[in-house]
Parts: sequence; structure tokens; C-alpha cells
Amino acid sequence: MDKQLPTPNIISFLLFPLIYFVSVKLCLAFAMTPEGTVIIWLPNAIVLATLFYYRGQRLWLFMLLMLAAEVAGDVPVFRWHEALMLGGANIAEVTLAYFLMRKINMSNALIKIEDVIKFIVAGPLVSSLFGALIGAAAIQYIGRDMSPYLYIVQVWWFGDALGLTIGTPLLLSLFYHHRKVIKPLQKVDVIVIFLSAGLLLMLLLAKNGLFYGVVITPTLLLPSMLYFSSRTDFKLTAIAVAILSFAVSILVYAGRNPFGDVSISLTILHAQEFIAILSMACMGFATLIARIRENERELEDRVAKRTDELQVLNQTLEQLSTTDGLTGIANRRRFDDVLEIEWARANRTQQPITLAILDIDWFKPFNDRYGHQAGDECLKKVSAVLTSNISRTGDLVARYGGEEFVLIAFGMDSQDAIEISKRICKQIQALAIPHDQSVFGSVTVSIGVATMTPQTAQHADMLFKVADEALYEAKKQGRNQAVFKSPNV
Ligand code: GH3
Ligand code: MG
Ligand code: MG
Repeated sequence: MDKQLPTPNIISFLLFPLIYFVSVKLCLAFAMTPEGTVIIWLPNAIVLATLFYYRGQRLWLFMLLMLAAEVAGDVPVFRWHEALMLGGANIAEVTLAYFLMRKINMSNALIKIEDVIKFIVAGPLVSSLFGALIGAAAIQYIGRDMSPYLYIVQVWWFGDALGLTIGTPLLLSLFYHHRKVIKPLQKVDVIVIFLSAGLLLMLLLAKNGLFYGVVITPTLLLPSMLYFSSRTDFKLTAIAVAILSFAVSILVYAGRNPFGDVSISLTILHAQEFIAILSMACMGFATLIARIRENERELEDRVAKRTDELQVLNQTLEQLSTTDGLTGIANRRRFDDVLEIEWARANRTQQPITLAILDIDWFKPFNDRYGHQAGDECLKKVSAVLTSNISRTGDLVARYGGEEFVLIAFGMDSQDAIEISKRICKQIQALAIPHDQSVFGSVTVSIGVATMTPQTAQHADMLFKVADEALYEAKKQGRNQAVFKSPNV
């Protein structure tokens, strides 16, 4: 909406009076009853929309052009000085409406319900009444209409009010782009379209509110119009309302008495009532629906944003977590922490500490041969064997990464370390997980074991390094075995 402010140019100064002139002619020809009453006066809506579109730039030039077009359009019907007075009343009405709407900060896009209410109060209610008070006085002064002053005021007011109500939102909605959220036709839409088309046809063919004895008035189309408003957007609703309003005006003008066989003044009142209810209900409804859809979209956006945030949070949590997702045993992060702690304890108490690094033999060929899923299952089984071999607090089994596992055992001497490592090798082989890429025919592991009683100034890395060297030896010597190394011995 707040894109660059358009500036009026020569084309707008030519087009504006032309459109105004045409709308004057149209209203005088099709919306005025033979008695001289105008049911809908559209030209003022064109001026108001133009002023809003250009944000009041060149206001006085537009007013002058409007006056000229008014006189040109009125003259055969009214005398030129009468036309000048009518034009003056219209200028007063439109200028008041424009400045009032600016004053109460009405957004010209009319998307929000608050703006629609501001528009109706400042435009049709206040400014049109103001224009009517002046216009009716002018008409009485020139002696054109001898009806009571207040009657002329009422007819003028309603006609102008309807013109503004129907025309301004329609024109503004053409200027300002509304997001379209029209869904594809559903079965129920087709049914409603057919029923409404039938009703409309009967209405157009009816006389005195009767179609072959069936009572049919424009009011019957109100539900269809509301349905249409809920299914389309503001722009299409404004267009549909304008079309139906003009259709009703033409029926009145043609003397078809669409509201039944009543007096012309009552018919006009009915027509104006109908158009007022139609436009306010449909445009209000369309605005409300648009607001609901907007809220829905906002909610969806917010949910999507929250989901993204949760995903990021989950990733962070996973990083912070201390267990391995696949096997459920401790992860490398936890291993690093525990090794530090247990190493320090062994150092403090001068007790031995054992570290075993375990690596599955020919695991890459296993994965290639049996698939990644079978590889994962194998990892789980190996980790279960390891877990079953530790029992004391201070012992820890962790997945170091890939197909490598580690075991920390505080207070375990070399004798036990060798024994347990050999046992683990046997137990893994006893699982008898088929592995035809291995010389052993089933899954086996190699283990490097190291036991140390820490000396001050030594670091836990030292133990790891020795165990890793032992693992290398085990691989080199043919796999499926545990190799022990101790720097202390
Ligand atoms: P070596 O006997 O010398 O240890 O040979 P290897 O094939 O076991 O060793 P290498 O390090 O070349 O291959 C390790 C393989 O472990 C590579 C990868 O496909 C597999 N691997 C690592 N992490 C996972 C995992 O989480 N799931 C599965 N299924 N496979 C994994
Ligand atoms: Mg490896
Ligand atoms: Mg391996």
C-alpha cells in the first residue's frame, strides 16, 4: 500500500473529468426515476477515490475539473447555474469526506473492519448528509423541487451515501492490490451459482415483485451475495455489489417495481434500503473473512517459525546429550569427560586404570555386503555385549565413533584387563553374525588394551595413545584378538 506515491499527470487530468462526466450521465440516465430522484449518485465516489489515490495532490485542480464535468453532464437536464450549485454541493461533500477520513487515519485499502467503519461514518453518514443539506437548500432556492426540505435532504443523502458506499471501496480495491485467496470451485459453489442465476433471471423478468404469481424481490439474492463474499475477495465482492445495485436501480427506473406494487417513493426507499444493506453486509463480510484468513496465515507462519526453532533446539540438545542415538550407550563426549575424571581419581588414589579400544573387523565390507541397516543392528549387538561385561561404578562403555567402542575400568589391573578383553572377543564371535567378507565367516572385533597407574604430570591422552597402538597391533596380527600394552611394565 505504501508504495511510491503516484503523481497526477496530464492523462489523469484528462481521464478524471471524462470518467466523472460519464458517471453523471449514467446516473442521470439509469439511476434517476422519472420523478427526478437519483437512487445512487456515483460521481462523488470517483472523486473521493481519486483524491485518496493521489493523497490529495492537486486537490483544487481536480475540484475545478469536477465542476466543469458536472456542468457539462448536468446541463441538458439542469440549467447551467443550477448545475454549478449542484457541483458546489458535491465538492463540499467530497472535500469534507476526504479530510475527515484523513483526520481519523482511515487506511485507504479498507482491509480492516475498523477502516470500513471509519469510512461509513465519515463518508455516507456524515459527509453525504452535509452535501445533502447544502444541495437540498440549493434545489429549493432555485425553485426546482417544491417537496419538503427534509424530504429532499433524505433522498439526496441516501443517493449520495449509496454512491459512496458502493463506488469508493470498489475503486480503491481496484487501485490497491488485495491478496487473492480464492479457492477452486466446489460442488456447493456450482449449486449456489445455478440457484442464484435462476433467482436473478426471475427477478429481472418479474413485474411488481411477481414472477408468474411467485413473489420475488431483490432481498432473496442477499444470501447468495453473502456466500459469494465469503468465497471471493473484497474486490470481486465490491464489483458484484455494484452490478446488483445498478441492476436494481435500472429495474426501478424502468418502472418494474421490483419491491412490489407500491408507490414510487416507497419503491425508491426500498431500493435504497436494499442497496445499503447489501453493500454494508457483503463488504463487511468480505473484510471480516479476509481478516480471518490473514489471521490463519499469521498463525501458520508462527507455527512454522516455532517448528524451525524447535528443530534448531533439538539439534543443540542432541549435541549436548551424552548418549549415542543408535546404541543408547554413552557417546564420545561422555567418554572424554569420564576418562578425565577417572584418570584424575586413579592418579589421586594411585590405582590402575584400564582403557580398551574396540574396533569391528572389516566393517566397511560388512556394510557394503549386508547393507547399512544390518550394520546398525550389528553395532547394537556389539554394544550390548560390551555393556554386559561391565558392572562396577567407574566403569564405562562408550561408542567412540563409527564402529569403534571404548571401555574404561577404574581399578582394573592388567591381569583382569587381558582376561576381559579376550572374553569380549570370544563373545562377539559367538554372536555368529554372518560376515562372508571376513576370514572368520562371522563378525569379529579387534581390541587394544592398556592399563596404567598414572604418574603425576602424565595425561589421560597417554593411556589412549598406548591403547590405540595396541589396537593397531591386534589388526596387524590378523584381527579377532586382544592385544595388551602397558607403558608401566
Ligand atoms: P578394519 O577391519 O581395518 O577395521 O576395517 P573396517 O572396514 O572395519 O574399517 P573402516 O574404518 O575402513 O570402516 C569403518 C566402516 O564403519 C565405515 C562405515 O561404513 C562404517 N560405519 C561407521 N559408522 C557407522 C554407523 O553408524 N552405522 C553403520 N552401519 N556403519 C557405520
Ligand atoms: Mg575403524
Ligand atoms: Mg573396523
